[in-house]
Amino acid sequence: MIKIGTPNISLDNDYATLTNDIIIDGRCEKLWFKVSSEYAKYLTTERADAYLVLLFYYAMKHGHDMEFEVPVSERIYYQMKYYLIDALNQEDPSFKNIQIQCTTECEPVVSENAVGTGMSGGIDSLSTIYLHTGEDCPQSYKLTHLTFFNSGAAHLPDGERVLDKSGEDIFQKRVELAKTFAERTGLKLLVVDSNISELLKIDHTLTHTYRNCGTALLFQKLFSVYYYSSAGVKYSTNYVSPNLDTGHYDDSIVPYISNNNITFYSTIIQYTRFRKTKILTDYNLSYEFLNVCITDSTNCGECSKCIRTLTTLDALGRLDRYRSVFDLEKYQKNRNRHIGWVVVNRKKDFYDEIYQCFKDNKKHIPFVSVLHALNYWVIGIIKKNIPQGIKDSIRKIIRK
Ligand SMILES: [Zn+2]
Repeated sequence: MIKIGTPNISLDNDYATLTNDIIIDGRCEKLWFKVSSEYAKYLTTERADAYLVLLFYYAMKHGHDMEFEVPVSERIYYQMKYYLIDALNQEDPSFKNIQIQCTTECEPVVSENAVGTGMSGGIDSLSTIYLHTGEDCPQSYKLTHLTFFNSGAAHLPDGERVLDKSGEDIFQKRVELAKTFAERTGLKLLVVDSNISELLKIDHTLTHTYRNCGTALLFQKLFSVYYYSSAGVKYSTNYVSPNLDTGHYDDSIVPYISNNNITFYSTIIQYTRFRKTKILTDYNLSYEFLNVCITDSTNCGECSKCIRTLTTLDALGRLDRYRSVFDLEKYQKNRNRHIGWVVVNRKKDFYDEIYQCFKDNKKHIPFVSVLHALNYWVIGIIKKNIPQGIKDSIRKIIRK
């Protein structure tokens, strides 16, 4: 059983901290969220919705029912209990169809009807901001706030914080980027630090939608609309499973974690990552703030996301615009190898459109790139046929 207590807000000069006791089979964990004191008045302690969304996956995975001291919004209780939790359990019965013991509340809390989205600097985030700050966007859906949540993107699956190559906390470094960006756009920025990842100890990719939307639900007195940027996979591939990256199906789940205060949108789900990158090339601020890297606080140019973005910009003929966020000389030196990666993956999501764009724009695929593709293909086959025990041993040696 997981018992979720009554949250408590403490003020300390410039910061407000929301703390709650989470009792898991008698063991008490303190879950906290820390924000700048100007946002203290928006922390919603009257509803436990945020805790339900943040913790239900953990509860299902570890076989715990949930009990709440504070009421849960009736709508979110209904949607999660009768649809989402059951759907995940049906897909994988090892995830328990948990019982939720709570009182429910129909009335929404008073809200400032703000409109928010996360600012990570990535393709999904910047394209969402671009499309929701333009003149075409209806007033009630125009962004008023950017957010930056420490909810797992800067953590390893075991809950440890990820450090960049200089040994600094990636979360703290990216907050600075978000602050500068917010100043340039004139939008307000809500930064939330938290220990949710240390408590969950679950792979972020499997739960990122729940963590980010759950954190937004702590601010029901602020937001009425919140855009969650989806992963940019093809619209038709939405398939609910507890064992998949939630980005593959977040358009299916966000209606179930919305309530009468906040409507979540899986933003521009109809755009693939390629199409998002393409529209971003018209957004001047992206030339200075695009940050897609998964291994460092600035774009490394070598990780899968950096290579995907660089080759997309190359295929589109727009690389030059991103001189201040990517080392383009380094890219040119490794270009043949990176295009080889696109060629070998040309039938997969993300890479299919990049490869097609090279062809449509009549860009020559160098012969050396084809050789690199062949090399990747052979390595892939060898890796596939190595027994799992040997793979694990190699991984351990590499980690040392
Ligand atoms: Zn990178």
